[in-house]
Amino acid sequence: MNRSRDQGPHRRSQEEEPHRRRNPIGRGNDGFVCEHCGLEVLPLLQGSYRNHCPACLWSRHVDVVPGDRAEACGGLMEPVGVKGSSAGGWDIVHRCVRCGATRVNRAALDDPRQGDAWELIEALSRLPLRRDS
Ligand SMILES: [Zn+2]
Ligand SMILES: [Zn+2]
Repeated sequence: MNRSRDQGPHRRSQEEEPHRRRNPIGRGNDGFVCEHCGLEVLPLLQGSYRNHCPACLWSRHVDVVPGDRAEACGGLMEPVGVKGSSAGGWDIVHRCVRCGATRVNRAALDDPRQGDAWELIEALSRLPLRRDS
């Protein structure tokens, strides 16, 4: 009954941490290094998830629902268009270069540290938006 088995000061072992991070972006609102242009991307300050690079707008196919990092594909996602959001602002349309899935992600133009590149969004907004699913 009273067998306290090795619960001494050695218990804390960093190596025992389960390997749950299956992608370099991590979970939720972490910073990451852009795999397209190499920019070190900082987390957003305003609560939403940073899921694309502010400099080149490329993203990665890691979310099933934005922020959950539950998608196993992990392919790079190319920005293929933008559309005005009904709530104001812009949504960027990304297409995965590996599996072809498309995702709509809110542009983060107003982030005070690393806002999205407006020139790129503007250029994308002039492209005809292809809607294939
Ligand atoms: Zn980038
Ligand atoms: Zn994909």
